[in-house]
Amino acid sequence: MYYGAIKNPDIANGPGVRVSIFVSGCRNHCEDCFQPETWDFHYGSRYSQKTTGRAICAALQPIHIQGLSILGGEPMEPENQKDVWELIRDVIITSNSGKDIWLYSGYTLEELLKEKKLQTDYTREILNHIDVLVDGRFEKDKKDITLTFRGSSNQRIINMRQTMKEPSEIILSKYHNLKHGGTEDCNLLMDKITTLNGKACEKIAWDQFCSGSDH
Ligand code: SF4
Repeated sequence: MYYGAIKNPDIANGPGVRVSIFVSGCRNHCEDCFQPETWDFHYGSRYSQKTTGRAICAALQPIHIQGLSILGGEPMEPENQKDVWELIRDVIITSNSGKDIWLYSGYTLEELLKEKKLQTDYTREILNHIDVLVDGRFEKDKKDITLTFRGSSNQRIINMRQTMKEPSEIILSKYHNLKHGGTEDCNLLMDKITTLNGKACEKIAWDQFCSGSDH
């Protein structure tokens, strides 16, 4: 697997202060994709579980880091699934399940569960161990810049802990309807708190203002 970037910190792709990895390779080719350079499976740097994976696990250790976001490109392309799964597994082990894991895929959950061409030995492991899946291709005519954590209204923010217990029903995350500029815009509030109080207060502030958990 290759990756285009690792962001630390990232406050745009999931709640709180996060570490994000943008993996390379995507066959979805959505019209107006905001980063078509990541369609190339060899874009960026080669991923290594021993070096890149360990560095990400170490970056997740501080208390103010809420979790890991895995984006693309397309993390669920079959070629990427082994490394994505090993990263998720190691994050769970090294953080003692204390960090949440969000994964963004252009494929829908239904496609990931049913389409044979997407299935590998790691597909179910990934889906069973992430907290949130943001699914669906970016659809230009459904683009909505007021949405938080997703680019077009067809995309869903799915609570995977609950959904994988009851696969016949898709349970949306509490973040699904969050909008920029709304009274519940925890991400912007978080940004202000970070500026005012410094990193040590971030986790406490997030918990205080955005009570509840997706996992
Ligand atoms: S799934 Fe994401 S990276 Fe792939 S084409 Fe669509 S918007 Fe671009």
